[in-house]
Amino acid sequence: MTPQAEQLKKSKIFTVFDGILITVVLILCLLPLFFQLIVPTKKGKSVKITHNGTSTIYSLSQNRIVEIDGAVIKIEDGKVFFESNDCPTKQCVHTGKIYNAGDSAICMPKDIRVEIVGDGFDGSSK
Ligand SMILES: [Zn+2]
Repeated sequence: MTPQAEQLKKSKIFTVFDGILITVVLILCLLPLFFQLIVPTKKGKSVKITHNGTSTIYSLSQNRIVEIDGAVIKIEDGKVFFESNDCPTKQCVHTGKIYNAGDSAICMPKDIRVEIVGDGFDGSSK
């Protein structure tokens, strides 16, 4: 085998490896895209705040502060949480940020229920 032929063979092998490498890189690049497509459907879109039996639905995509009966509920970056509350237990404040559909934060003493809701409450009817 001439050195040139060996060189050619080597470069061919590298081409195959390059092909595999490119394929792997492409898959790695596409994976986050797939996750991005899947994750938003799981994420909650709106938040339902119920106080004394009355519910109000707010969009999670809009940052806002909702004050009910001394409780300060903050909607920020698609998450919602009791920022502060003057209830005795503060359990609602300790619940922290919620953002998945079905998650809820409840203030028992004040009868405030904050629930993340998914499809059907996305506020698109505006
Ligand atoms: Zn509370």
